[in-house]
This record gives sequence, C-alpha cells and structure tokens, in this order.
Amino acid sequence: MLPATIRPLSEILAAMAGKSDADVEFVTKAYEFARDAHKAQQRYSGDPYFVHPAEVGYLLAVAGMDVRAIAAGLLHDTIEDAGIKPKIIEETFGAEVLSLVQGVTKLGTLRYRGLERHTESLRKLFAATAKDIRVLIIKLMDRLHNAQTLEHVPREEKRRRIAQETLEIYAPIADRLGMSVTKQQLEDAAFSFAYPKEYEKTREFFKQRRNENEKRLEKTERDLKRELAEAGLRTFRTEARIKGTYSLFRKLERKAWDISKIHDVLALRIIFPSLADCYTALGIIHAHWRPVPGKIKDYIAFPKPNGYQSIHTTVYTGDGGALEIQVRTESQHREAQYGIASHLTYKEVQSGIESSRGSLEWIRQFVPLWRRSSQKSAPAVESITGTVPEWVKELAHAHAEGSASEEYLDTLKTDFFSHRVFVFTPKGDVIDLPVAATPIDFAYAVHSDLGNHMSGARVNGKMVSIDTPLRNGDLVEIITKPSSHPTRKWHDIAKTSMAKKHIRAALARKETAP
Ligand code: MN
Repeated sequence: MLPATIRPLSEILAAMAGKSDADVEFVTKAYEFARDAHKAQQRYSGDPYFVHPAEVGYLLAVAGMDVRAIAAGLLHDTIEDAGIKPKIIEETFGAEVLSLVQGVTKLGTLRYRGLERHTESLRKLFAATAKDIRVLIIKLMDRLHNAQTLEHVPREEKRRRIAQETLEIYAPIADRLGMSVTKQQLEDAAFSFAYPKEYEKTREFFKQRRNENEKRLEKTERDLKRELAEAGLRTFRTEARIKGTYSLFRKLERKAWDISKIHDVLALRIIFPSLADCYTALGIIHAHWRPVPGKIKDYIAFPKPNGYQSIHTTVYTGDGGALEIQVRTESQHREAQYGIASHLTYKEVQSGIESSRGSLEWIRQFVPLWRRSSQKSAPAVESITGTVPEWVKELAHAHAEGSASEEYLDTLKTDFFSHRVFVFTPKGDVIDLPVAATPIDFAYAVHSDLGNHMSGARVNGKMVSIDTPLRNGDLVEIITKPSSHPTRKWHDIAKTSMAKKHIRAALARKETAP
C-alpha cells in the first residue's frame, strides 16, 4: 500500500459551492487547527492522523454541507484523540461547531454488539443525534473513511465488527436520509470485511456479466441519443450507473442467484433540465423498446419515503437481454446523490429556498399542487401528492409561506429527529414515521397490501390495539388475514397521509364493487 496523502485544503475549498471569503477563512482555520492538533499522531496504517479528519471534511464539502459542518468534520477527533479542550474549540470556532464536535464524539462511544443489539444501538444513535441532523451526517462520513481504511485495523475480529456495524447500522441510515452515494460507498467498503466469501462470489458474478452489460448499455445509449434528438430533445446528459457490489449481493440472494433475473447490474441514466422532458423521454423509450411488464416505476409522481425521485423502466434491448433506464431532472439527480445533506448548504440556509443552485427545485414542484388544491384556505399538507416524507411536505409548506423559509430550514436542520419515531420491521428494516403514528401507519409504510389486510399488530412481541402510538425503537409485526379490510375508523386513526390515501382508495373500491 502506498502511504495515503493528506487531502489538500484547496480540494476541500474547491468542493464548496457558492462559498464566501468568510467561509474560506473559516474552513482554512479549522483545517490548520486540526492539522496542528493531530501533528504527533498516526493512524493504524502509519499515515499521519490528519489524513482522516481532512478526508471527512472533504466528504462533507462534496455532499454540499454548510461550512460549520465541514469545520466540525475537520475537528471531530480533536477533543477525543488530541486532547484539545472544548473551551478552546468554542472560543476559536463558536458554540455551534463545538456542539457538533461533541455530538460526534458522543456517538463514537456507541458500540455494536451483534444483531440482537441492533435495535438498541440504532435507538441510541438516533437519540444521541436528535438535536442536530448534521451530527449524524458527520458521523456517517467519519465511518465511511474508517471503513475505507479497514485493512489497516489490526485484529480480524475488530475489522469484522466494524464492517458489520457499517452494513447494518450506518448504510441503512444513509439510505433513510436519501444519501445514496454515501450508502453505496459504506456498503462497498465494508462488504469484503464483513462477508469475505460472499464478496468473492458476488465479484465473480459481476465480472461474468459486466462485458455483456457494457456492450448492451453502449448500444442502447447510442440508439437512445439518436431517438431523443430526432424527437427534438437535445439538452440532456447520460451516465452509466454501476450497481454496488453489496447491493448486487442482496439482490442475488433475493433472486436465488439467478443473474438472468437481474437487469440493473449496469443501468443507463438520462438527466434532463426539465420535468416535462423526463415524461417525453419515457414515451420515446417505450415507443422504441418494449418495456418489461411490471418494471415501470414512477418515483417522480410517487417519491420513495426517503425523498428519492426518478422514473425507472426496464426495456428489452432486442439482443435477448434487458436494461434498466433511469430518467430524472438535474435537481432530482443532485438530490438523489446526497439527499438531505444537499439541503443543508450554508448558502441555501442563508438565502432561503430561492437559491440559485436550485437543489430544492423538486420541493418547489410540490408547491403548485398545494396552491391548486388549498384554494387559499388553511395549508392543506394532505393534498400534496405522493408518498412524500413529512419533512419534505413541511419544507414545501415553509416555501409556500415565503418569508418563514430561512428560519424553517434552520429548524429542520437542528430538529429533524424530534418529531419522528424510528421503528423496526421483524427483519430489522428501519421505518420512520411521524410522532404518534400507529401500527396502521406502519403497515402502509411497509406495503399497501400489508395495510389492506391487516387484522392486528404486535409491538415488541405483545399484541396491541391498532391505535397504539408507536415509540422509538419499537419492533412492529403486522398480522394479516385475507378477509380483513380497511374501515372508516382506520382512516380516523391513521396519522400519515400515505395510510389515509390507501385506506380511502380501498374504501372507494369497496363502495363501487358490485
Ligand atoms: Mn474519526
């Protein structure tokens, strides 16, 4: 292994979009302070310790975080590992940076102790970060760099523990926050250390298919560019999306290792400036290639619970194979990379939603929907369509109300978890719901079929009534019966718009049934 080089300050500054002179000065000061503080220390690899915090600062800048978060990333180990007094951090960088650094330090004391402790660890993790979501994002980047340098950790047992914790706790959190790039990086760094045999097997599968997939992708891309140009669509860009090794592994497991059932080892992504272009392009794609039935997913009209928006379709490419194509706008693309982190940029917080960078474009798209249906009456959050996360609706709200937006973004940033509860499926998946959500909301958040046939619920192993408010860390199990159906009462009990919408649809179907 070559010695790692310290990420230069210039690269961190270059990654900060829309920065002011004061921002540059602040980050420079943090960079130099941390470099000096860690001067005498080394990593397991023998590299200078500062390699690590410099990289964390860089990852935060790339994700679009604000300058205080970037500074806190650079300084995150100075109290714990370099013996710097909290008072010094506060005097030099302010109370906000100190509170971020201390939050990250506090999280560092949590240890993962195997699957049975999964729920407990996660519960603590969320509780510890409840005050400021940026603490969690800094911690994710800290973990990412540690996972990427796991080979240097001396004991195998420790490497495996860190790797499993990364896969089972940190990657799902990155996913919940819509940070897909970070999620994939965490998984791919940890996979080989957590499950070496499975990793090798997956790499083998991947290699076998890669060539064939690459050729298919290149040909489809050429044909598609021509078709789009003929239809007058000229402003767009394409890119290949390579599936992460761990995500491929999980899918192979689900499909009993039948790779012929997997069409998205490589996917073709097309990115347009406007939303209308996306739907035009979808029409052109389906006119030219036959879509695989059941594979068309409009996550633009119905965003994923973490806010993800894109249209996915899989088409037969005429060579006996199929290829997944993803269509989205530039702003949806940015949002899909770093999720909530991309909303926390200092500039955007300062200038409110009307920022020139426009990564909040997709939220703006909800606002006309709201305006149309609310008819100047009280803000009707319910009328914003799709399975949009609550915090997104609240953002749309803040935007509609105009002047409050700057203040609102600030609250969102520091108050993200205080009005959410995180509960678990029997398989350990995390479902986040608004405070006071019930098993009905949980069931619909998992799947509409689960909700539509729910007959009862168990929370932490005990039968409960379906209007029981769920609490952080609860393990929720839904009991179904084919004969069970939603009722009006369910509609009154449910807290989320997603559950209410599905219940209304089910009730309407029942009324119109012969
Ligand atoms: Mn660290």
